[in-house]
Parts: sequence; structure tokens; C-alpha cells
Amino acid sequence: MDLKLTDEQRQILEMVRELARERIAPGAGEWDEKDEFPWEVVDAYREAGLYGLAIPEAYGGVGASELTQVLVVEELAKVDAGSAIILAVQWLGALPILVAGSEEQKQRYLPRLATGEWLSAMGLTEPEAGSDVAGLQTRAVREPGGYRLTGQKKFITNGGVADVVTTFARTGGPGPKGISAFIVEKGYEGFSVGRIERKLGIRSSNTAELLFDDCRVPEENRIGEEGEGFSVAMRTLDRSRPSVAAQALGIAEGAFDAALQYAQERKAFGREIAQFQAIQFMLADMAMGIEAARGLVYRAAEMVEEEGRGGRRLVRANRYSSMAKCFASDMAMKVTTDAVQIFGGYGYIKDFPVERYMRDAKITQIYEGTNEIQRIVIARSYLSEGA
Ligand SMILES: Cc1cc2nc3c(=O)[nH]c(=O)nc-3n(C[C@H](O)[C@H](O)[C@H](O)COP(=O)(O)OP(=O)(O)OC[C@H]3O[C@@H](n4cnc5c(N)ncnc54)[C@H](O)[C@@H]3O)c2cc1C
Repeated sequence: MDLKLTDEQRQILEMVRELARERIAPGAGEWDEKDEFPWEVVDAYREAGLYGLAIPEAYGGVGASELTQVLVVEELAKVDAGSAIILAVQWLGALPILVAGSEEQKQRYLPRLATGEWLSAMGLTEPEAGSDVAGLQTRAVREPGGYRLTGQKKFITNGGVADVVTTFARTGGPGPKGISAFIVEKGYEGFSVGRIERKLGIRSSNTAELLFDDCRVPEENRIGEEGEGFSVAMRTLDRSRPSVAAQALGIAEGAFDAALQYAQERKAFGREIAQFQAIQFMLADMAMGIEAARGLVYRAAEMVEEEGRGGRRLVRANRYSSMAKCFASDMAMKVTTDAVQIFGGYGYIKDFPVERYMRDAKITQIYEGTNEIQRIVIARSYLSEGA
């Protein structure tokens, strides 16, 4: 699919491709093998100024469009989905501040997140509340000058390496209206990192438990009003889902490129396996899925950009955001599984990257709202807003 890119987008993508080729691709297999967080990738992003892409110029960033952001994540995920999510989650952690933070909060946090001096994470999920966000149990009890947070967050990407975590806790009664959003800094008393998860895929990313034990958070670190937290979380996720969709798209493209090349090299029964119709049909289906997903992902990014200015809650764009995430991740799961099939026995072996792509693809169907939840969001959008 040929996109009409601006000169600036073209330059950014060229630079990201080079960075991916030279500073990510060589280490990706080893980081996966060793469950290792690649600090050298963090440095590469800092040096290239990538953390600032999603941060407005007024706060030291580049203010790149949503489309540019997804194109960058897609490029990185073609090589290593774990590294791609390190960047996307920096932006995710900043989003609650961007959509609902005070001017003081923006001034204090966004410039440091834009340079990558500070890393961020977004802590919403809890051991007993994943899809059911409104059921979260972490409590924030008011005290003079602030709050005391007590509870636990689960599966938080960048959690163990973040300097700043935007998080959510209950200040009121049960349900969505009792939730408020907060900014927690790494050094706050009562805040600690629990276990680092061992995972099926995206193993170069850091996934941690976060523990709040009477953690004191100053009043000025509450994002928005008390009770607005659920809305802040939803406005955040509506905007971040195209990045997960782009991650899925990049994974599928990486796997397809590998399979296309292998099919033209591997011989069976005296000819290249690419000459078998069964293999050609698989390649054709993979390519169609990728192209269809690209259209949807880019459209979602443009719609989020258009409708979401000024931190507004998306009304129609959220349907595209969910569609893109759901469709691209289901497609990535299928394409990467087919890529392993095309590689035959070698596909199952760690000497080739396609088994890693297949393991990495799985998470895109689960996080930032499972695909079951995305289907609920999409259906509800049509039922309430019409076609
Ligand atoms: C590697 C990794 C990184 C993550 N990163 C982050 C992060 O940075 N920040 C963060 O806050 N969270 C993060 N998460 C959490 C992730 O978003 C949740 O795991 C996910 O939303 C699902 O929640 P759950 O695990 O509690 O599953 P559950 O909600 O228990 O769901 C279990 C199953 O039931 C289905 N289900 C649940 N409710 C319904 C329903 N109403 N209708 C139909 N089906 C339903 C689900 O789709 C799923 O198939 C991460 C998770 C992982 C594994």
C-alpha cells in the first residue's frame, strides 16, 4: 500500500529503519532467549529522539501525528515486537497526563518523558481486574495534602524500569465513578516493584507487578478530578490501541518477509516450495491480510488524530481504534502461524526468527483490552451510534 507521506515522515521512517536494522535486529534473538531488557535500545531511542514523537512541541517533543507514531511502531515491530512496545508504552504512560493532566503536571513530566530521561508505564490491570477495569481494588485514601495508595498492579509493561507510572485507584465507591488517576514516581515511599514476569513472547519487554503499600502521593499528582479516572483510562486506551495494532502489523510483515524469502530458497521434490500452489495460496492469504490490516490501522490513526484533539473522548474513532487492534492482531496470529508452517520443521526451531514472531503475535490479541473486549466495544459503538 502506497501512503502519501510527508518529507518529514519519510525521513523519520528512514532513520527508524536504520536504527532497527543496526541496533535492534542483531540483538533481538538473544534478548528473547535471555528474557533481557535491552537498555541499548532505550539509549538508541533517546539518541534518535524517538520518545519525543508523541509529545507536543510545547513540552519538548516533536508533536508527530498519530499516523507517524503508528508507522514508527510498525517499523520497529518488523524486527522486534518487544523493542517496539518499549517505545509505545513510553507514550502510553504519558497519555493520561496528555489527555487530562494539569498544566503543572505537563510541565513537570512531559519534557523528561520526551527526551527519555525518565521512562514511564501505565498501570491499570490488577490481579483480580483486567477486562473488568471498573472492578479495580487499589485504594487511594485521602489525607492532608494527598492520598495513601494501597494495592497491587499486575502485568505492567515497563513497570520494573519506569521512573513514572500513571496509575488508577479507588477514591470512592464501587464501579467506574469511584476511580481516580494518579502519577506515581519511582522514589515515592511505599511504592515498589514486585515480580518480573517470564513470558511466552515479547520477552525483551519488561512486565512487572507494582506494589503500593501505604504509598503517599501528593494531591497535585492526581490527574483530573476525583472520580474521573475511568474516563481518563478509556480516553487513554482509545488513543493507544492503534499502536498495538501497528505492532501486530509489523510482526506480521516481518514474518511474511521471512516466509516469502524462505519459500523461494527451500527445495522439496526437486523444486522451490514457492512453486507449490499450497504455499502460494498461503502467501497470498498472508499478503491480503496484511494489506487489509494496514488500511484499517492507518485509517484508525487518522481518525483518532482528527477526533481526539484536545484530549476529547472519541465517539466514532474508538470503533476504528478497536477494529484496527482486533483485526490486525488476529491477522498477525494467523500470518505468523502460517509463516512457521512455510518454514516446516525449521519454523519450529529457534535458529529462525518466525517462531519468535508467532509467540510475539499472541500478546497483541490480549493486551490493551482482549479481542473479546474489542468486539464488545465495536458492537456497542454500532448499536449506540449507528453505522
Ligand atoms: C505481557 C503483558 C503486558 C501487559 N501490559 C500492561 C500494561 O502495560 N498496563 C496494564 O494496565 N495492563 C497490561 N497488561 C494487562 C492486560 O491488558 C490484561 O491482561 C488484559 O486486559 C486481560 O485482562 P486479564 O488478564 O485479567 O483477563 P480476564 O479479564 O480475566 O479475561 C480472561 C478471558 O475472559 C474473557 N472475558 C473477560 N470479560 C469478558 C466479557 N465481558 N465478554 C467476553 N469475554 C470476556 C477475556 O477476553 C479473556 O479471554 C499486560 C498483560 C500482559 C500479559
